[in-house]
Amino acid sequence: MNEFRIGNGFDVHAIAEGLPMWLGGVRIESGTGFVAHSDGDVAIHALCDALLGCLALGDIGKHFPDTSDDWKGIDSKKLLAAVVGMIQERGWKVGNVDITIALQRPKLAPYIGQMRSALASVMGVAEDAVSVKATTTENLGFVGRGEGCEVWATALIFK
Ligand code: MG
Repeated sequence: MNEFRIGNGFDVHAIAEGLPMWLGGVRIESGTGFVAHSDGDVAIHALCDALLGCLALGDIGKHFPDTSDDWKGIDSKKLLAAVVGMIQERGWKVGNVDITIALQRPKLAPYIGQMRSALASVMGVAEDAVSVKATTTENLGFVGRGEGCEVWATALIFK
C-alpha cells in the first residue's frame, strides 16, 4: 500500500517592462518580465511551495532566502531540482503536479507543451504527470491590468 501526501503552493510576482520573462522553466517572448530576486519564474516558485508543503518543509523563502546573494538571478529550475532532492532524500517520489497560471498577456498556449516538458525533465517524471494550465482574468484585477502574474500549484508525492 502506497503512502501519499499532497501540498499546495501560491505565488505572485509583479510585471515590469524590459525584463526577461521566465515561466514554467521556459523563456516567454514578451517585452515584459517578472520583478524578482531570482529569475522570477513564478510558476516554479508555486510548484516548489506545493512540493515542500507535501512534507511540511516550509516554503522556498525559508530554503532560498532573497536576502542571500547565493540565489540572486538564479535559474528557478535549480531551486526546483533542489526541492525534488529534499523530497527524494526523505524516501518520497513525485507523483503528479497541476499548475494554473493567471496572466493577462502574452497568451501562453504556445508554451504549455514546452513548460510541461521542462518541468517533467527537472523533476524526473513523465510529461503526463505534469499539468500546466493558463487563464487570463478577463481584464479584471491586477492580473487583468497586466500588473502581475499569479500561480497556484498542487503536488502529490508517494512512497
Ligand atoms: Mg516567487
